[in-house]
Amino acid sequence: MHRSYVAEARRRVGPKRERIRPVIERLAAAHPEAVIALRFRSELELLVSVMLSAQTTDVTVNRVTERLFQKYRRPEDYLAVPLEELEADLRPTGTFRQKAKNVRGAMRVLLEEYDGEVPTRLEDLVRLPGVGRKTANVVAAERGATQGIVVDTHVRRLSQRLGFTRQDDPVKIERDLMRLVPREDWARFPHLLIWHGRRVCIARFPRCEECALADLCPSSRV
Ligand code: SF4
Repeated sequence: MHRSYVAEARRRVGPKRERIRPVIERLAAAHPEAVIALRFRSELELLVSVMLSAQTTDVTVNRVTERLFQKYRRPEDYLAVPLEELEADLRPTGTFRQKAKNVRGAMRVLLEEYDGEVPTRLEDLVRLPGVGRKTANVVAAERGATQGIVVDTHVRRLSQRLGFTRQDDPVKIERDLMRLVPREDWARFPHLLIWHGRRVCIARFPRCEECALADLCPSSRV
C-alpha cells in the first residue's frame, strides 16, 4: 500500500485510542461465543492442552486429549510411562517428539518446584520447558490471572491491519496492545481477534464487505 494512502486511511478512521473500545464492543457483539476452544477440566489439563495446540488445530487437540486425560491424570502419570508411549499418544498433534519431551520436562518441574501444582505467575509458567510467553498468557488468562495479552498469528495480523501496532515482533506487539487495550479486556481481546481472524479478517482474503469494523479499520477495502 502506498505510504500517503496509509496516512490518509489512518486519518479517516481516527486515533486508535478512540477506536479501541468500539472495536471491542462490535467484536463482542459479532462473536458472542468467542472463548477458548480447547476442552479441559483442570489446570493441569489446561496447561497440557495449550502445550499441545502449537501448530495444530484445537479440534485435533480436543480429539487427542479426550483419551489422553483419562490415562494421564496427574503430573506423575506422564513420567511413569516410557517416552515412546507418550510420543505415540501425542502423535496426531504433530511435532509429537518435541511435545512429549516438553510435557515430561514441564511435569518434572511442576513436581520438583511447585508441589505438582500449575503456577499462575507468568514468570513461573515460562520456566516450564516448552512454555513460551504465549502459552503462559493463555494459561494465566483462563485461570483468571491475566497478566498480558496473548499474541498469536491472528492477533498479530489483525492488530497490524487495524493500525493498533506497527511492530512485527510478538513481544513488541503485546507491549503496544497492553498500552492500548483496557485492562479488563486483556483476557477476551485475543479471543475476539482470533474468532474475527478465522471468520472475517482471513489472512489471504479479508472479507471487508462483511466486516463490522470496516469504518474503524485503516486497511478496509470498502
Ligand atoms: S475491514 Fe477488512 S482488513 Fe479491516 S478488520 Fe475488517 S476484514 Fe480485516
